[in-house]
Amino acid sequence: METILVLTHADETGTALTKASLEAVTAGLELAARISAPLTIGIVAADAKNLTNGLPSKVLAVSGEAFAQPRYATDAAACEALCRAAAATIVLAPGSSRFARVAAGIAHRLNGLIDTHITAIGGTDTIEATRWFYRQRVEAVLTRDARPWFLLLDAGTHAPFAGATNTNAVEEIKVELPALRTTVSGIRAPKQDEQTIRPDAKMLFVTGAGWTKKQPDGQTHVPEAAGLILGFLRLTGASLGSSKSLVDQGGEGNSVLPFLTHMNQVGQTGATPRHPKGLSTCCHGEEPHVVGWRFIAERRAISLDPNCGWTRGKADVVYVADAFPVIAKVNELLAAKKA
Ligand SMILES: Cc1cc2nc3c(=O)[nH]c(=O)nc-3n(C[C@H](O)[C@H](O)[C@H](O)COP(=O)(O)OP(=O)(O)OC[C@H]3O[C@@H](n4cnc5c(N)ncnc54)[C@H](O)[C@@H]3O)c2cc1C
Repeated sequence: METILVLTHADETGTALTKASLEAVTAGLELAARISAPLTIGIVAADAKNLTNGLPSKVLAVSGEAFAQPRYATDAAACEALCRAAAATIVLAPGSSRFARVAAGIAHRLNGLIDTHITAIGGTDTIEATRWFYRQRVEAVLTRDARPWFLLLDAGTHAPFAGATNTNAVEEIKVELPALRTTVSGIRAPKQDEQTIRPDAKMLFVTGAGWTKKQPDGQTHVPEAAGLILGFLRLTGASLGSSKSLVDQGGEGNSVLPFLTHMNQVGQTGATPRHPKGLSTCCHGEEPHVVGWRFIAERRAISLDPNCGWTRGKADVVYVADAFPVIAKVNELLAAKKA
């Protein structure tokens, strides 16, 4: 008989569980129902009392100021204590930077095994965890006999749990903290409007090298391109992706869009984000780029080239058009709608 534990943590405000944590709760609930196993939810937070948000099962928590912020020593101690208290054989956790950092260490402390980047959990007699290999080209289904088995879930693969607003009782688990060598003095992050990578956005907006190429008038129009792209992002809240060619141009000393870095790159050697919709602009749609679109549900592209890779079955809709006036018009319509 399996015993399932879902590990969760609070967001930076400390007043709610992260979306990825709530996705792990959904995965835990589905698995518990399917294999008829007991489910416990474990919370790591400064104060867990108001975080239970109608969580449907037994809730254990490790709380206190030491657990307000991510830190290996405290997070590992907290998660280890929760796993031991729940006597868990299967541990699900969000693949957040906070838990990705400690999960392998906790699995080792408990003499268990871990698999990461899990996208689905299936099976009834045995537990089957699905993940992708080789840059999302090969999908594998894993089973293991070793217990406890830790499964780190990729974000965006499950619906976040939305419970009733009742508050469940929380059982506090005491933790003996080791000597702490790390002091968290704060978080330094770019301002929200400078942050163009938005994993929770409904849409991925991808820019290709075409934005910086000579246009029909024989000139480049990079500042205009920057204005159109940033305007679109501001009006839609979309996440910004890029082709490799465009982000590489910075290293070649060419005129580039200053807000793009290699972190924005989508593709074989870049990221494989998950969004319900994607719009590619001024981009050729070559295979090494398009493989990064694997998990974009509805794909559209704007390119001047009627023979571009997107038209060869890679996009649902291709607009053979000049992206400059198209995006200018879309921004105008969106701004009018917002006004
Ligand atoms: C091993 C390997 C790994 C790679 N990994 C990646 C990766 O991870 N990610 C990635 O992106 N690439 C990757 N590449 C490169 C990839 O193959 C393509 O070369 C690259 O993605 C093409 O970028 P692009 O479409 O921005 O530029 P281009 O190929 O230069 O295409 C620009 C496009 O813009 C269009 N255009 C120009 N002006 C306008 C306008 N006004 N309106 C509309 N359209 C316009 C043109 O018609 C053209 O289609 C990899 C390549 C290799 C060999």
